Amino acid sequence: MAAAVYLVLLLLAAIFAPLVATHDPAELAVGKPFSGPAAAHWLGTDDLGRDLWSRLVYGARVSMKTGLQIIVLALAASVPVGLFSGYRGGKVDNVIMRIMDALSSVPALVLALAIVGVLGPGLTNASIAIAIAVTPGFVRFVRGQTLAVRQETFVEASHSLGTRERTILRKRILPNVASPLIVTVALASGAVLIAESGLSLLGLGSQPPESSWGSMLQRGYQVILTHPWQVIVPGTALALTVLAFNLLGDGLRDALGLGVPKAVGLRGRLGLTTVAPRPDLAPEAPATDGPAPLLTVSGLTVEFVTEAGPVTVVDDVGFSVAPGEVLGIVGESGSGKSVTSLSIMRLIPSPPGRIVRGSVVFDGRDLLTLPFAEMRKVRGNDISMVFQDPMTSLNPAYTVGNLLGEAVRLHQDVNRAGARARALELLELVGIPDPKRRLDDYPHQLSGGMRQRVLIAMALSSRPRLLIADEPTTALDVTVQAQILDLLRSLQAEFGMAIIFVTHDLGVVADLCDRVLVMYAGQVVEQASVTDLFERPRHPYTQGLLRAMPQVAGRSERLVAIRGTVPPPTALPAGCRFHPRCDHATDACRAEPVELLVRGDRPVRCVLSEELVP
Ligand code: SF4
Repeated sequence: MAAAVYLVLLLLAAIFAPLVATHDPAELAVGKPFSGPAAAHWLGTDDLGRDLWSRLVYGARVSMKTGLQIIVLALAASVPVGLFSGYRGGKVDNVIMRIMDALSSVPALVLALAIVGVLGPGLTNASIAIAIAVTPGFVRFVRGQTLAVRQETFVEASHSLGTRERTILRKRILPNVASPLIVTVALASGAVLIAESGLSLLGLGSQPPESSWGSMLQRGYQVILTHPWQVIVPGTALALTVLAFNLLGDGLRDALGLGVPKAVGLRGRLGLTTVAPRPDLAPEAPATDGPAPLLTVSGLTVEFVTEAGPVTVVDDVGFSVAPGEVLGIVGESGSGKSVTSLSIMRLIPSPPGRIVRGSVVFDGRDLLTLPFAEMRKVRGNDISMVFQDPMTSLNPAYTVGNLLGEAVRLHQDVNRAGARARALELLELVGIPDPKRRLDDYPHQLSGGMRQRVLIAMALSSRPRLLIADEPTTALDVTVQAQILDLLRSLQAEFGMAIIFVTHDLGVVADLCDRVLVMYAGQVVEQASVTDLFERPRHPYTQGLLRAMPQVAGRSERLVAIRGTVPPPTALPAGCRFHPRCDHATDACRAEPVELLVRGDRPVRCVLSEELVP
């Protein structure tokens, strides 16, 4: 606070220099040369008898103005470049970073000297030179922050709504980069002032008779041995100002809670961008009875490229969803549920992820081959997503009204007032109490359940025909989970939309879904209607999941855990991927990969499925 007060006073003094200064800073012989501080000249006079206080005040004006120019120039160049580089990644990022590396390899002041050498001395040229010299640091900083923010779930959620990249950069990423950037700018301002004074000290910055702290230092330096006061005055002002900027930067960093690096979830660390379309054909999805499917996923195969080579994380997955149907995708963590659902939206991280085979046909069009602009229209309009953690899925820099209003305007031609009215309707629709007041709340002011309702409201803003809910109740307590499930059930009935519900909770599946897809180690192992699956599970993994599920009836029975864990995609066992955990495994199970075949009335990936019917 002290630093801020000092800087505000300095700024006011610089702005109102004619009122604060006691003399004209350029007027010669207003006093005896080299006179010390006195009532007539508070800080004494210089070698030409000019008033030092007045020169210091006007010098502050020049130095602050120059510092501001440099910062504005550097930000104008570095923010767009850093945002673009961090957001795009890949080759573009590589090229930009190598250029910044080359610029950074020369010390900033030396680089500035070289540029001034080319442009010629003068304050404007010095400003340009210093701006160029500090730009690589700013670019690196903005790019680093962008890399972190683009991995947040609320950016992923924006992609799923079909938001334009430009809007994501401007409204999702920039506001979240702004706070740490302000801190960095505050810390860099001191260095910029020193650089400007350094160039002026060398005679390359401000030129006589203009007064800046650097030019005052230059004159004082020539008489430092006989009249040190001439250096002490501008030197102290400069030192105090640099210290104030540094303290302000530190204070802002603490106040904004930026001192400790933020934790980013696994999905966040992976980063989420779109993947290039892969038109390869693949085996058809298992056929289902009933109306023509709204979505048909066939032979979907997704790889992640690691240092050891490509690793398949989703292997030949196929299923379909009819209009108005609720399909549950279940399995333990690592079974490939989330990658499958993200692949439908072409939102898997790339790199390292890539869809290598398959098709995702929605309403007659293969989403994997759609041009990017077309795919963006599908996201949010026809297919929406709700994510697991409502706190990280909502942009913390915007109010609920802004978030919902933007989602509405993205897909509907309405003005701000119309979007706000629609946002209010959506909040009422998802049962948020006192919706009018909540419109102006920020996500952190809402409870977990309310945040998830807001997320659902955003997903429903364009009345999608398919909602993909990726573990939307996992982060909520049991009571709120039940409320959210009730809400989804009633909204599904009201809108008639299809839902893909990704979960590891079979209780939720029983409650909400019509059909179930059981996944294990990246593969579908069983697919059935909810009734069939619960009454007659055929795959030993499904049977294990059901045995491990707490039930109200039969409380005295011990729950049976499936021993072991899901193997990582880098160490899949030969033969049936479930065999190390399966009580029924035989040599035949270990010998050959097991195909997903229709056994009896449903697709099951087990050689003993007929024998193991309970
Ligand atoms: Fe178990 Fe063999 Fe069936 Fe795999 S194929 S689930 S190991 S019985």
